[in-house]
Amino acid sequence: MTPTSRARLMLEATGDAGETDLSAWPVGRREEALLQRYCAQSWAREAVVDCPACAATLEITFDPTSLPAGLTAATINVEVDDYVVTARAPTVGDLAALPTGAEAEVLGRLLLEQCVVTASYRGDRVTTSDLPGHVVTAIEDAMDDADPAADIRVPLTCHECRATWSEPLDPVVFAWSAVETAARRLATDVHVLAHAYGWAEQEILELSPFRRHLYLSAVGP
Ligand SMILES: [Zn+2]
Repeated sequence: MTPTSRARLMLEATGDAGETDLSAWPVGRREEALLQRYCAQSWAREAVVDCPACAATLEITFDPTSLPAGLTAATINVEVDDYVVTARAPTVGDLAALPTGAEAEVLGRLLLEQCVVTASYRGDRVTTSDLPGHVVTAIEDAMDDADPAADIRVPLTCHECRATWSEPLDPVVFAWSAVETAARRLATDVHVLAHAYGWAEQEILELSPFRRHLYLSAVGP
């Protein structure tokens, strides 16, 4: 599965995707929902990173309250050197429409084409491929500012050499990892209860989490 389809599956499972079309969501809203639903517990927010300066290994737990807020502007207006561009923040649907396996530069250009609504130079319409590099950079910066949660970066300080840098945080990876951990724990619970009581897997899965834990605490040490 691609990260986009994993994210969709997880938000459909929590019912978040039910009320509105997930494709229309700004990317930052998806990232926030995944962190809220799947990474509320601190074990789901733990990560290991290597310091880029001295290669020391840092064990971190990111703070969900320190993450950027959601969409601040639905429409983005950029005016640079007689270029006037109107754009919008990328949506989940924009990401899903991107080809898999393409290079970052190609993906960036395709995303720009999808998100630029109108572009003109001294009043005349221009295509996105006609925009000079510094105008493209200005548009991309404005898109980042409009939806800060779409590209989350965690500031870090190395405890060994005091180097500071920021590390990108991918909520899809963290949420998926939390799902895998929960699935493994559930499988262990099934094993213990099946062994103790002779129940079938389906019967154990139909127990509420509360009752499952009651029986587990009766069995386990
Ligand atoms: Zn270091």
